[in-house]
Amino acid sequence: WNYHVTHFVTSAPDIRHLPADTGLEVAFAGRSNAGKSSALNTLTNQKSLARTSKTPGRTQLINLFQVAEGYRLVDLPGYGYAEVPEEMKLKWQKALAEYLQMRECLKGLVVLMDIRHPLKDLDQQMIQWAVQSGIEVLVLLTKADKLASGARKAQLNAVREATKEFVGEVRVEMFSSLKKIGVDKLRDQLDSWFSA
Ligand code: GDP
Repeated sequence: WNYHVTHFVTSAPDIRHLPADTGLEVAFAGRSNAGKSSALNTLTNQKSLARTSKTPGRTQLINLFQVAEGYRLVDLPGYGYAEVPEEMKLKWQKALAEYLQMRECLKGLVVLMDIRHPLKDLDQQMIQWAVQSGIEVLVLLTKADKLASGARKAQLNAVREATKEFVGEVRVEMFSSLKKIGVDKLRDQLDSWFSA
């Protein structure tokens, strides 16, 4: 698969407005600021495929990109904004859960977490919803360049240990858009999901 030819297809305000549930999808999720947009841009080798929105509480859209006909990458709204009212947070969470549980064409979920602050509540929740729905998960520990190699490895081992009950369903790797760490692992995992 050539991810460099990925292009924007459409945005949806919620899961009811997504395009038809056919083909194969891989979704990207993470707390706001986890480095999700940067990872999508790095994967696709495009400067601004996924816009980095720095406006918390702004209407969050689900963005869909197409790698090839019927093969999509889905950029889910970032979660965890402190400034967002509780009611809105719960609404987002419900929508995320619904998407993970109902979307038939969803093959895999990439969960991005800052390597310095992994496995926050909603990160763990996302992993659980996915696994319960039979969706495989790739956890990317982002901004790995921010830690020295020893600390980096320690965090990787800690997150692998914390998710070991899901072995075979959840894979954990380091990632850095800045230093291009883990991009090959991400590509391999997407290839595998899209080829199944
Ligand atoms: P998003 O909110 O999850 O889409 O996160 P962004 O991709 O917009 O990144 C959030 C912030 O982290 C930005 O200031 C990025 O420049 C920074 N960032 C993203 N990826 C990396 C990385 O690999 N290394 C470093 N050092 N900073 C990164």
